[in-house]
Amino acid sequence: MFATLSDRLSATFKNLRSKGRLSEADIDATIREIRRALLDADVAVPVVREFAGTVRERALSAEVSQALNPAQQVVSIVHEELIAILGGQQRPLHLAKNPPTVVLLAGLQGAGKTTLAGKLARHLREEGHTPLLVAADLQRPNAVTQLQVVGERAGVPVFAPHPGASDDGTVPEEGRRWWERSKKADPVAVARDGVEEARAKQYDVVIVDTAGRLGVDAEMMQQAADIRDAVHPDETLFVVDAMIGQDAVTTAQAFSDGVGFTGVVLSKLDGDARGGAALSVASVTGRPILYASTGEKLTDFEVFHPDRMASRILDMGDVMTLIEQAQKAWDAEQAEQMAGKLAAGEDFTLEDFLVQMQQLRQMGSMKKMLGMLPGMGQMRDAIENFDEREVDRIEAIVRSMTPTERRTPKIINGSRRARIARGSGTTTTEVNQLLERFAGAQKMMKQMAKGAGMPVPGMGNL
Ligand code: GDP
Repeated sequence: MFATLSDRLSATFKNLRSKGRLSEADIDATIREIRRALLDADVAVPVVREFAGTVRERALSAEVSQALNPAQQVVSIVHEELIAILGGQQRPLHLAKNPPTVVLLAGLQGAGKTTLAGKLARHLREEGHTPLLVAADLQRPNAVTQLQVVGERAGVPVFAPHPGASDDGTVPEEGRRWWERSKKADPVAVARDGVEEARAKQYDVVIVDTAGRLGVDAEMMQQAADIRDAVHPDETLFVVDAMIGQDAVTTAQAFSDGVGFTGVVLSKLDGDARGGAALSVASVTGRPILYASTGEKLTDFEVFHPDRMASRILDMGDVMTLIEQAQKAWDAEQAEQMAGKLAAGEDFTLEDFLVQMQQLRQMGSMKKMLGMLPGMGQMRDAIENFDEREVDRIEAIVRSMTPTERRTPKIINGSRRARIARGSGTTTTEVNQLLERFAGAQKMMKQMAKGAGMPVPGMGNL
């Protein structure tokens, strides 16, 4: 995410830091570099122009020349101005005074609306809401089924008037008949019925998934506008694929004119090394970015914090998000049990190790987590090469042990090692390595239990 931009900006600042005092020429050279980096990352031209102008003006002012560390002050100005173009403050979802809150999703086909609907529903459910998903995308035969699948994964009910096509995109007989009918069915009526259903059954948020087209199209805009007029959304979220480059801005403008929206969701932020167009959307449309979608899994979802994103772009890390994800995965009860056990002088076993692994997994992919640490830009290659399957292998090995072996790994002799390797589809060498690493972790846990309290789950062992 924003890797190239991040690298370019870091290199620019490195040059700057080597200088003690900054002349106007130094500042101009820096601004030129920043401008080029932003343009190469696809940030829209007017946004770049304004950004560079503001940064230059501030960099030439007294706040920099009188600063103790002028270079650091320039970085800090860039940080602040990046936050500004990303929308400033984090903006939460506006909830209706009288529930249900109606959230309408709009965007091109393939933008990631249906996936986002599931992620948002899951997120809201975790926050204690009772969401209902409404399938008003009757354009694609399997859109309804797709929403039903993500709804089920998110543990959120889906209002769909008819069965959709099956998962693989084929339309079963019953679905086919429905599909024939539904081509005449009215998505506006479905959306309206869905909101009614939510009101009657006391769901407090309704998320309405609408149909997109491959390109901006008058009929699609009209349909979205008709749905909007029928359900009076509290929020209309424009979902935009960060990978579509400069088109993101033109599409955003078309949706802004055609339907209007109150907030933006950036999707597929995981896939794009440039991503700059996404940086322009808030600025160009004047609408805040509420969420970011960062992968195909339901958990690949983040509340968008402009300040944290700016820090990530400047390679200052996003420790807050990392901590929040750790807290979500962290089971306080289990932690207490473990701390108590260790304090009582009991051994840290392979079973505990497995529990820690699982908690670590719940935090999301290692690559994403490592990427949030400050200064990780320099280690980008190492992160890219990190093999997520390593965690799978460790888990498979521990799972292939008997409970007794997990509790007393000392008994795992040569033939047991060979059996475990076979059972887990790994090699004896890998089993040996894990046992060695575990022995180290066990030692560390013992020391920690004596003095320093609980470490972060699994971190020390990897
Ligand atoms: P819709 O047509 O707007 O409803 O888009 P979908 O939700 O069907 O998404 C289109 C494709 O993009 C699907 O294959 C999704 O799995 C994929 N997708 C959605 N969100 C993301 C994301 O954040 N990252 C990645 N890598 N893929 C995504």
